[in-house]
Amino acid sequence: MLQDTLLFAAPGNLFVTLVAALFGLIVGSFLNVVIHRIPKMMQRESDNYVAVESGLPPPHTGRYNLMLPHSHCGTCGHKITAMENIPVISYLLLRGKCRACQAPISVRYPLVELLTGVLSAVLIWHFGSGWAGLASLVFLWLLIAMTFIDADTQMLPDDLTFPLLWAGLLVNINGTFVPLQDAVIGAAAGYLALWSIYWAFKLATGKEGMGYGDFKLLAALGAWLGWTMLPTIILLSSLVGAVVGIALILVAKHGRDKPIPFGPYLAAAGMIALLYGTPLSHLTLTLIS
Ligand SMILES: [Zn+2]
Repeated sequence: MLQDTLLFAAPGNLFVTLVAALFGLIVGSFLNVVIHRIPKMMQRESDNYVAVESGLPPPHTGRYNLMLPHSHCGTCGHKITAMENIPVISYLLLRGKCRACQAPISVRYPLVELLTGVLSAVLIWHFGSGWAGLASLVFLWLLIAMTFIDADTQMLPDDLTFPLLWAGLLVNINGTFVPLQDAVIGAAAGYLALWSIYWAFKLATGKEGMGYGDFKLLAALGAWLGWTMLPTIILLSSLVGAVVGIALILVAKHGRDKPIPFGPYLAAAGMIALLYGTPLSHLTLTLIS
């Protein structure tokens, strides 16, 4: 019975919100592994493919996936023990340094954990722990992984964008967030919207403003939130992107010609739209008309 009450706890339930926060911290710790390893796994795969195609032995033979090898210090190879792997707390206890060699540990690790924990709690507080709440966690976790992978590597792996798209269509079979019809049109329209902007921009300036991963990500957001939310998402992401982009150029002297990944802004806009989309889209429609 306890399980039943837990699973269907209503929005605003403090206890399940705290459980979500703790669980989110642990998932955040795993997302750090995903963010670090998926690009490396893709690189290894492509290196091996190229080598084999040219008749050479594959350069990477050791096992390398999300589980193996076990987490270790990037500087000295010291194996991270369970006690050194407690989200956020271990980082604070170790004062941000490897216990064996004192090499600094990036502050991004605890920040990703904290972000995942806090936003997981926000979603469960907002949606409760029924289907909508649980589905929204999947949405969040995939978006966090994509945000940081795109920021690091300027690419959005199909291994993440496609599952997000399929999941969006599946959760809306019963109209969890939007009617299925809106979700299907949203997926197609999301892809086409950025695809057309991409080609218009390319034909006008000869430059590529974004990549195909961005189209797939907006398709996925359309599948989750429906086509009616697309104008709001595009507006929000451009707004956030412009503000952060200008700040980066001013503060960090980020080269103007360096590509600024669009994925993180789309992901942020998607999260905002999931939570506050309905009032925001009314505002967007008023602004447009
Ligand atoms: Zn070390």
